[in-house]
Amino acid sequence: MKLTLLGVYGPFPAPGSGCSSYLVEDGETKILLDCGSGAVSKYRTVYPGPLALDAIVLSHMHADHAGEIDLIRYILEFGLGRKPLPVFSPEIERLSYPVFDPILVSDGSEAKVGSLSLRFIEVRHAVRTVGVRITDRNGRSLFYTGDTGLFDGLIDAAKDADLLLADACLVDESNPKFLKNHMTLNQVEKLRKDANCKRAILTHRFGDAPGLLPLSDPLCEHAVEGAVYEI
Ligand SMILES: [Zn+2]
Ligand SMILES: [Zn+2]
Repeated sequence: MKLTLLGVYGPFPAPGSGCSSYLVEDGETKILLDCGSGAVSKYRTVYPGPLALDAIVLSHMHADHAGEIDLIRYILEFGLGRKPLPVFSPEIERLSYPVFDPILVSDGSEAKVGSLSLRFIEVRHAVRTVGVRITDRNGRSLFYTGDTGLFDGLIDAAKDADLLLADACLVDESNPKFLKNHMTLNQVEKLRKDANCKRAILTHRFGDAPGLLPLSDPLCEHAVEGAVYEI
């Protein structure tokens, strides 16, 4: 399984960058994981032809994760890709178009897309949000947290994952209001350790952060747009 970081910022992008969107591939199977600002342009930089996606997963409907789903609709309405395209989401009201096959997911939902198996978990955020564990046919796994505050259920959901892709929007715990909805760098480092993930990428970088702070866990790294990981 291969993961490409298309956009890694939230809740708004840094100059010249994009918000949450990740491409997950396994052989011929392709899933777009979140579809924030810049997703379509960055995806088309990798695959310039017709949309070759098998499904889209939206963790939630905030604009930094789902803002470009309407651009995907336009592409499909021009006949440039598979339709109806399955879109997994915890809210499907905005997906009522013939080019989409909206699939409502909640805690414990499971699905298969090509060679990949998906298992969803409801997480703690300001609106209904899911994290997802994606496992390939060799048993290699990626767990994406979506946007969430830290809670015990994340440890089980991420247990032994080969790669943890985690919301680390906050630098520290100084703002209790945001802490309910996002994790800090330290919390993600602890989650990686408690869940025994082989490595972690700290994403959803704050769009106005002055720079990257050093991390104490050598198995954790900051997300960088364009980076590709073989899982
Ligand atoms: Zn976000
Ligand atoms: Zn959000």
